[in-house]
Parts: sequence; structure tokens; C-alpha cells
Amino acid sequence: MRHLAIIGSGPSGYYTAEAAQKAFGEDIRVDIFDRMPVPYGLIRSGVAPDHQSIKGVSRRYEKVALSETVRFVGNVAIGRDISVAELADLYDGLVFATGAPHDRELSIPGADLSNVFGSAGFVGWYNGHPEFSKLAPDLTGSTAVVIGMGNVALDVARILSKSREEFADSDIVSHALDQLGSAGIERIILLGRRGPHQIMMTPKELGELGNLARAMPLVDAADLPPADDDALLEPGLRKSVTILRQFAEAGTSAQNGKPITIEFVFFAQPHALHGTDKVEEIEVERTVIERGRAVGTGEFLRLPADLVVSCIGYRSSPIPGLPFDERAGRFANDEGRILPGIYCVGWARRGPTGTIGTNRPDGYAIVEKIAEDLASGTLGPGSKQGRAGFDALAKSKGLDLVTFRDWKKIEQAEEEAAREDAPREKFVDLAAMMQALGDDREP
Ligand code: NAP
Repeated sequence: MRHLAIIGSGPSGYYTAEAAQKAFGEDIRVDIFDRMPVPYGLIRSGVAPDHQSIKGVSRRYEKVALSETVRFVGNVAIGRDISVAELADLYDGLVFATGAPHDRELSIPGADLSNVFGSAGFVGWYNGHPEFSKLAPDLTGSTAVVIGMGNVALDVARILSKSREEFADSDIVSHALDQLGSAGIERIILLGRRGPHQIMMTPKELGELGNLARAMPLVDAADLPPADDDALLEPGLRKSVTILRQFAEAGTSAQNGKPITIEFVFFAQPHALHGTDKVEEIEVERTVIERGRAVGTGEFLRLPADLVVSCIGYRSSPIPGLPFDERAGRFANDEGRILPGIYCVGWARRGPTGTIGTNRPDGYAIVEKIAEDLASGTLGPGSKQGRAGFDALAKSKGLDLVTFRDWKKIEQAEEEAAREDAPREKFVDLAAMMQALGDDREP
């Protein structure tokens, strides 16, 4: 019997477990660890609450989790509660599927002013992530600036502009729903340091901005390159740019009787944030594109900014004992191999790119490497203790592990607490999650 530890229960972790099940069948036992008492990582706390159909992929992960060969072990942080060396003593292979939970830093003066947030925190706040549920952004000002032209920026702009009714069937947490309900935002500026041909937004997500009840996207036609140039773009980007062209023709919020404008400001890179205590303005430098890069022109302008959310990408968390590529913000690895018997997958391997589905081939590819290493003898003779050894170690350390069956209790409690028009009301702190487990837990 071989033993595999997967650290992180988000999409890349579960796809890796699924691939291992298929490749090794009954010859493997897989433990999926998570520092949270609840599984699914970004599916739960990253995917936008109004994108429930994307969250539905967790049913596929549940099928993997409910098999004999795979188990979920929550509420244990590898690198803190259990060291990498301790885990490597117990399992033939370790796969780090820990994602990229930290913001790429917005390194400009004033970034530490109040009401300036990174997307990890802001998205975590409206998704009820326990680390960010107390964020309490001030949404009373009239102008929000969202930095970045990726899908996360789109999520944030859309969530900021939706009406209460548009959150029906979503699992946005009540604290966020209430605060958004009394928000004063009238203008949302989406700030891009490059131009329309360099956006990272995908067509389906961008198109949603055109169907909002209270908000209108606004694109200045003068920013758009000649239409003929679109032919050079790859098909997905071409579709997105076509949508920007439609936005440019659709008129203003005022013309369409909508109270909120989502304004695309291109060719403007963040230079500084200004305010006495709380942020009040963002100073940007105008740019031109040279060989695909944004180059400052020396022309600066200030835009109002009562709230700033920086959606400029993410970094992985270093883990003691594992080599880390500081510049790229992910584990130092060669096609997923970090050290003999230690691997990484998903955002922890390749950085924060791609959709949920991109992680599936990633998971299958890493299992192929594991199979190669098993065949070559790199993973040793197969005498590791696996689960039994882990359980004894966890007991000796007094860890309060959460099983998949425990998670199902948390899930049930969240479903029972749901608002009338919502699938669940998430617990937003760890103590409440653990309390929902009750006293009759299996040892
Ligand atoms: P992203 O797609 O990499 O976009 C990051 C944006 O930030 C880019 O426009 C980038 O501009 C800009 N940026 C980076 N550094 C900057 C700086 N210092 N100053 C100003 N702008 C800066 O990242 P993301 O939006 O965080 O998304 C991460 C991944 O998750 C993506 O693959 C995305 O598609 C995926 N995702 C998917 C969905 C969905 O499918 N519904 C939803 C959310 C996220 P440059 O291009 O100029 O660097």
C-alpha cells in the first residue's frame, strides 16, 4: 500500500486525489489536509457568491471524498501543527495544493491608508472567510476604485454594484449583504495599466457587466484600437474586446436610467494613494504600450477614491522546509517536482492563472510524475505508515481534526441557517464552525 498526502482541499487538491484514485485504485490511500475545518478552498471562499453554478463542481469533489481510498482531514496546518519533515516520514508522497492565498502587493505610497484592501481580503470578506470576516470596509463613499483588469476585478465590481434582489440564490454572507445594501457607491472605476487589447477578463464574465440591474459599464470609444486590429487577437480575447466595443456604444448610465457607472479607465498605472487617514484619491500615471508593456508618460492625474480594492494577482505562502521562488511567488519546482517525493500542483505550482478547470489536467499531470517516481524507486520501498501513523502523531499533539463527516454537519447547519433565497449561510468564524460539530463526534 502506498500513501499520498495532499495539502490543500481546493480544486487542485481534489483533482489530484481523483487522478490518484484512477491511476492507483486500491493500491493507494490519500489523505487531503486543510488548515480550515471546511473543504474546497477557493470554491468556497474565492468563487463569487453569485456564481453558484461554478461552485457546483464541489459535488464532483464530494464523490472523490466519499470513497474508501480518500479521506479529508481538516483543521490542521502543515508547516505549523505538523512539519513537512514529520509528514514526509509518514507518506510516500506529499503534494502541496495550497493555492496562492496572499495578495500580490500594491507597492505604492499610501497603500497602507484605511479603506484600501487587497482582493484576498475583500473577496474573503464577502465570501465569509474567517480570516477576513471582520474586514468591515467602509462602503458609504460614492467612488470605488478597483485596480486590475482581470476576472477578480470583474467579480469585485459586480458585487459592489448589485442590488439586494440580484443576490437572490447566492451565498453571499449576511454581513456583506447588509453592508452592500446601505452602500453609497455610484461610480466604480476599473483601472488598467494597459489597454483594451491587454485585458485579462474572459468574455462570459465581462458580458455580465452589461446585464446588471443598477449599473452600466462605460468604455470610452477613444481608448479602443482600430477594429481591424482585433483580428490579431486570440479568439477569447477578441470576444472580450468585442464586448468592450458594445459597452462603448451602449451609452451612459444616465442615458440608461441606471444609478451606478462602472467606468473602464485604461492606460493608467497606480502611482500613489492620498488621504489624511482614510483613502480619498488615487494618483495615476498615464501610460503608453511599448512591446506589450505599460510605460509611464510622466503625465499624472488624480481620481476620487473612497474605497480601493487592488485585484492585481496573488502569491503562494512559503512553508518552512520547502524551497520558494520569491520572485514568482510560488514553490520553486520543476514541472511540479519540488524535492524527491514532494510535489506541488495548481496555483502553488504555476502561479495564479487559469480557471477552476485548468487544475484538472494539472492534477492528472502530477499523478503521472508520481507514478514515474514510484516506478523509478525515488519514493522508496513503500514502508511508510500513512494514516495510522498520522493519526497517532495528531493524537500525541492534541490536534482537533475535522473529518468529512464532521464537515457534513457544518454544511447541514449552514443550510439550515440560510436566508429564504440562499443556499446556505456560512459560518464566518472558526469557533462557530467547531461548535456546530456538537459533542458526539467520532474519536
Ligand atoms: P489576473 O487575471 O492575472 O489579472 C490581474 C490584473 O492586475 C491584470 O490586469 C494586471 O495587469 C493587473 N496588475 C498586475 N499588477 C499590477 C500593478 N502593479 N498595477 C496595476 N495593475 C496590475 O488575476 P486575477 O484577476 O487575480 O485572477 C486570477 C486568476 O483567477 C485568473 O486566471 C482568472 O481568470 C481566474 N478567475 C476566474 C474567474 C472566473 O472564471 N469566473 C473569476 C475570478 C478569477 P497586467 O496585465 O498589465 O499585468
